[in-house]
Amino acid sequence: MIAPVRVGQAVRLAEWAPGAPIELSEIPANSAKEFILPASETIGRYDRDGARFTMRETTPEGPRTVLLGVRPCEAAGLAIVDAVFNWDSRDEFYDARRAATTVVATACAQADADCFCTSVGGAPGATRGADVMLRLADGGRQFIVESLSARGEELLRSAHGVTEGEAAADPLADVPVRFSHERVTGWLAGQFDSPRWQEFSLACLGCAACAYLCPTCHCFDIQDESTRTAGVRYRNWDACGLGLFTQHTSGHNPRADQMARWRQRVMHKFSYYPEKFGMLACTGCGRCARMCPAGMAISDTCRAIDAEESSPG
Ligand code: SF4
Ligand code: SF4
Repeated sequence: MIAPVRVGQAVRLAEWAPGAPIELSEIPANSAKEFILPASETIGRYDRDGARFTMRETTPEGPRTVLLGVRPCEAAGLAIVDAVFNWDSRDEFYDARRAATTVVATACAQADADCFCTSVGGAPGATRGADVMLRLADGGRQFIVESLSARGEELLRSAHGVTEGEAAADPLADVPVRFSHERVTGWLAGQFDSPRWQEFSLACLGCAACAYLCPTCHCFDIQDESTRTAGVRYRNWDACGLGLFTQHTSGHNPRADQMARWRQRVMHKFSYYPEKFGMLACTGCGRCARMCPAGMAISDTCRAIDAEESSPG
């Protein structure tokens, strides 16, 4: 079971040890995606004899997992990433973990200034991507439990202390709408070469913390490590904010500066992904802004775009 627990000074989603307090009042620093798409995983093994390579069967791992107490923006992130791993081909490694995972989301009673789920189609009580939804009730003394899928039903059948009854749900967090995502997507369609990108991206250091913590960022690289007789193929997280991400072997880099990389991040989430899959690739969790060492926030870029798109002329 993975749950929000205190690790040092931070609350993180991590393996729960029986007896450890589950911290629902703080937004975890990391994202649930790392339990479905690990930062590094083995996707192949092979034997090698000179120039002859023989692949060995590598079975995808799918340990039965419950993600407990994730926020609605986290659960929605998994539903978004599902699309890209099941599009032109099915990713058996991703799918094995996903199929073995039951998502128990908790409606948000607290939000912070970086949250903007309501600007991207979400809400503190949204159920997208969740198998079970928990809502605090009766002044925090109980949960209202709602099953949303067959996996959720199965989990609840084995749960103790769940009874039929009525309870008054506690108020949810108030998350103001900060921009219109329709206007942002509209502006992006014609502004690839806008001079505003320079200003939007100036503070970005290119560290990729935002992508690694984001519940919807999913870019990876594939690397081999081999000896003369055998090798292992790994899939490792990568990120469009990193300078080497698009660098060619020749040394040419089509995204030569941080402006081009920040533009790609915003375009991917608010233009390319919606065009391809019919959904935004941002859930408004605010994690990228909360953790950015340079104080960058994708919602600030979106608000500036919205203001520009809304302004007359
Ligand atoms: S936006 Fe912030 S976290 Fe993301 S790459 Fe730039 S400096 Fe790093
Ligand atoms: S881009 Fe930022 S706010 Fe949007 S889902 Fe990713 S981490 Fe959350």
